[in-house]
Amino acid sequence: MKNKTKFQKLFKACKACKHSKPTVEFYGQRCAAGKRGYKSDRIYTSSECKICFRARTRRNGTAYRRNNRDKCRKGVARANRRVREEVISKYGNLCRCCGETNSLFLSIDHINNDGASRRDEQGTGWGLCYWIKRNNYPDDFQILCMNCNTGKARNKGVCPHVTRISQIDQVQQVSTPS
Ligand SMILES: [Zn+2]
Ligand SMILES: [Zn+2]
Ligand SMILES: [Zn+2]
Repeated sequence: MKNKTKFQKLFKACKACKHSKPTVEFYGQRCAAGKRGYKSDRIYTSSECKICFRARTRRNGTAYRRNNRDKCRKGVARANRRVREEVISKYGNLCRCCGETNSLFLSIDHINNDGASRRDEQGTGWGLCYWIKRNNYPDDFQILCMNCNTGKARNKGVCPHVTRISQIDQVQQVSTPS
């Protein structure tokens, strides 16, 4: 009798694939909440072996995502937005050039204009936001508004604001000799 219980403990038939497998191939029962499993005499209550269990849950996950496409997409969009806001606030929450603070206008700028060459490594858009967060907010990024970012890209790496400001400065210096 003692041997029989021992045997039952060591082997068990999987309901899904019908194979008799060692009980360690089954996920164990969780006892009370917060108390995860027993140590020595763990009870294996899962009716499927781990392989079948994983296959089924993976199928379910795929089906769930297929049936709740909008919900999943919204979840991803929310996560993306949160990361973007995090990155922007880490870099000061405003355009470094003109001071624009509306986050809808803001974008992430490669200070050294090396975005194109590092695209494979860092990605673009959301991917870049995640990369920056993963890499602990490196110094070679800044926040620029879309205007300043595009202007900088079209004006050989210097925002036209800066050129204009320095021109105004020059004009003022010339016109007001002291
Ligand atoms: Zn199985
Ligand atoms: Zn700006
Ligand atoms: Zn600017």
